[in-house]
Amino acid sequence: MNGSLPSLAVSTYPIRPFALGTPEAECTTSILCAFAKDHGKSPLRILNLLESTYSVPLSNLRARDVGCLNGYGLMQSRLEALLSLVTKRDDLGASNFGWAIKVFSTQGGLVVKRDRHFCAACFLRMRRADIRSHDLLAWQVADLNVCVVDKTKLSSRCPKCRSPQALVPTSGVLDLCSKCGCWLGDIQNLPVLPSDPTTSHQIWLAAEASKLIEASADLQRSVHGHEVRVFVREVLAGQKLTLESLATQLRISPDTLGDWWKGRRRPRVATWMRVCALLGVSPLDTLRDPFLAAAQMPLDIARGVWAVPRFGPRSVDQGLRERIATAVDEQLSLSKPSVDSIAELAIRLKATQSSLYHYCNKKVKKLAGRIRRLKTKRRWRKILSQRRSALRVLKRMEIEGVRLTRTAFLRRFMGRTSMSEWGAKELFGEMMRVRPSEGTGDSE
Ligand SMILES: [Zn+2]
Ligand SMILES: [Zn+2]
Repeated sequence: MNGSLPSLAVSTYPIRPFALGTPEAECTTSILCAFAKDHGKSPLRILNLLESTYSVPLSNLRARDVGCLNGYGLMQSRLEALLSLVTKRDDLGASNFGWAIKVFSTQGGLVVKRDRHFCAACFLRMRRADIRSHDLLAWQVADLNVCVVDKTKLSSRCPKCRSPQALVPTSGVLDLCSKCGCWLGDIQNLPVLPSDPTTSHQIWLAAEASKLIEASADLQRSVHGHEVRVFVREVLAGQKLTLESLATQLRISPDTLGDWWKGRRRPRVATWMRVCALLGVSPLDTLRDPFLAAAQMPLDIARGVWAVPRFGPRSVDQGLRERIATAVDEQLSLSKPSVDSIAELAIRLKATQSSLYHYCNKKVKKLAGRIRRLKTKRRWRKILSQRRSALRVLKRMEIEGVRLTRTAFLRRFMGRTSMSEWGAKELFGEMMRVRPSEGTGDSE
């Protein structure tokens, strides 16, 4: 339990990840949480300890970045190696998408969500079965919003306090809210799936993600990175299509498709999933045997029965981007911005604040800074003018020979200010305290 870390290397810590090699596989962050909990430390602390003990830089992974551990990339492979070492397991590759680095682009190629999602129904089942609560890898798959087990909508917030959930909560306990501590398995307000065409796409995505997760241990060994290229070539040759016409049907640019075709660039995972949905093939088939997948592809491209979303949630809405850019530029060109906050501008544009920052980060930050400075200036100007007018009232009272009591002051002052009575009382106290030293300093 006390686990001084150098000894971790020689001891075996019997972490039993759940259901690796099945669609319900536990994800790496969840395994990390279990490991940390067993050692009575926070998951991030464990990461730091592993980092220093084995001199493997994890770049001081912060809580909000640990999601990458379920995806693929340098940090993921390093952490997986460390975790395998200390848990003495060689099958942890099935708890993340590490294998995908061979096939897909790492450039913004998010295969997992940034924020944690979970299924309340699954948590309920885990509690009833009295097994350790854990997160499924399938819940974290980007763009997938339904639970692969229950086919219900995943939640991302606590049912009680509505706060988003940390991927690796300090406690390491995954079915309790990381903010208020209430149980996340409460299925009373289980979100329901909307009955629109995107739901069919979600169900397809759930099935295909399950297949990929199930095959991940296998894929780790079998994929080489040429699969996409081979598949695209075979489709073009087999369907007798030109690159341009296929690109149009897949709603991507011919340049992009050309790059895949030449093997010069790789698609992002989300893009590839969308392409496969449009082509009516299973992404797993394209990776396992691109020749066969291309040969078995339905002939009628892009006649899917469901709506494949045109853009992923993180993609670009050109119209909105332009509207935002114009509005922000306009605000910046004014000597004083006509909005009081970025939130106000967002409401005017019928957009969210985060989309403003997303599309025009630098300029919006600049505008926010300007608004802030302007507000500070305005506040100070207001305070100064209030003091000045209070001083004038006090002077007149002195000249008229009225005793300087608070009641007398308030009677004269309240008519000429927008201040609250409470504020005016405070101000009077303050003025009486500073008046002697101020003397006749304020002559207008
Ligand atoms: Zn579920
Ligand atoms: Zn909560």
